[in-house]
Amino acid sequence: MGKSSKDKRDAYYRLAKEQGWRARSAFKLLQLDEEFDLFNGVTRVVDLCAAPGSWSQVLSRVLIKGEKFGRSAWEDQEGKLRQQLLKVFGQEISAEEKEAIDKKAREKDILRPRKDVKIVAIDLQPMSPLEGIITLRADITHPATVPLLLRALDPTYDPETHSQQASQPVDLVISDGAPDVTGLHDLDIYVQSQLLFAALNLAMCVLKPGGKFVAKIFRGRNVDLLFAQLKIFFERVIVAKPRSSRASSVEAFIVCLNFSPPEGFKASLDEPMGIGDRLSQMAKMKAQQQPIVAPTVLQDLATETWSASPAKPFRADKNGIIQLPPIENIDRAAKDGRWVAPFLACGDLSGFDADASYHLPKDRITLDPVQPPTAPPYKRALEMRKAAGGAYGKTTSK
Ligand code: SAM
Repeated sequence: MGKSSKDKRDAYYRLAKEQGWRARSAFKLLQLDEEFDLFNGVTRVVDLCAAPGSWSQVLSRVLIKGEKFGRSAWEDQEGKLRQQLLKVFGQEISAEEKEAIDKKAREKDILRPRKDVKIVAIDLQPMSPLEGIITLRADITHPATVPLLLRALDPTYDPETHSQQASQPVDLVISDGAPDVTGLHDLDIYVQSQLLFAALNLAMCVLKPGGKFVAKIFRGRNVDLLFAQLKIFFERVIVAKPRSSRASSVEAFIVCLNFSPPEGFKASLDEPMGIGDRLSQMAKMKAQQQPIVAPTVLQDLATETWSASPAKPFRADKNGIIQLPPIENIDRAAKDGRWVAPFLACGDLSGFDADASYHLPKDRITLDPVQPPTAPPYKRALEMRKAAGGAYGKTTSK
């Protein structure tokens, strides 16, 4: 498939090149920020599984350069929109309100770089440098990566003694990790969950109380168990599906807000999350102490969010009326230590559909990718094929 047909098939792929993003994933992070105001008050961030680096680019443009995207940009435009709307209905706004709106509009494009920003990006693949971002080439599932990260965050960290002079924890950990997909759903979901546990483990070691954690998940069987486990450590856990993530894909993002681990909890490298049954025991304990499942399901209904869990404890009927789950399902879920996280679609719903093909004008110029892959897995295969004389090998003529 050529670049041009991919342009047609995927509006976000095309937009990413037009706007200078290294990958279309940038829109996913921007749309998550639009919904959850992720970057509010944030200066220290860890970007896991970061290559080719479009999420790091977003971080760099928002935190280092001080550009406005997402919610903060919308807030600036709100006044102007209100002004236009009132005009349509033949109404005027007061002189003071007009002055305030004009002032905001004048300030809209002023860059506001944040102070003391620290961004560390990690990936298995090499990543082309981005100004102001520390990049590490490492495997997030490997225990040796934790001290590497701690050292990058704080150069006084001594891996021998695990001591730090200054503890400067992190406000936000994001992870867009994805294994090479095999197409075998259960295997892909298993490997993805290992990446997620590794990301969570790293997050536990560096997040400050009140910090945020955002990670890619594949919605599969037992995902509600995972939600319950995350709920042990974060006050709010929400599953979000940005508009730029294809509806046909099982991909979604878990947004965990207000890191508040149980009293006395210490992240441990010796007993990482996801290994053994420490996590499930903590989840069960929490469910017994605080029966989070039933009240939260009802509460979520009240706020008009609904479950995306494959367990489908409740769903809308053909008239759009939400059916409550049979009460025994809620009871069973509570006993199993499962929990259904609220589900939110985010991003402008009238924006581009990630699953649609769009008509493009004939005279359109197809742009090259902003950052070609530095070491793509197919590079060696191509070299071998070239050395062998092409796709069908060397042909010798007699
Ligand atoms: N967020 C990135 C961006 O915006 O450019 C895109 C990330 S891409 C979808 C997934 C990345 O996960 C790949 O670059 C891959 O190398 C990385 N990855 C997969 N397993 C990893 C691991 N164990 N440790 C570090 N990175 C990993």
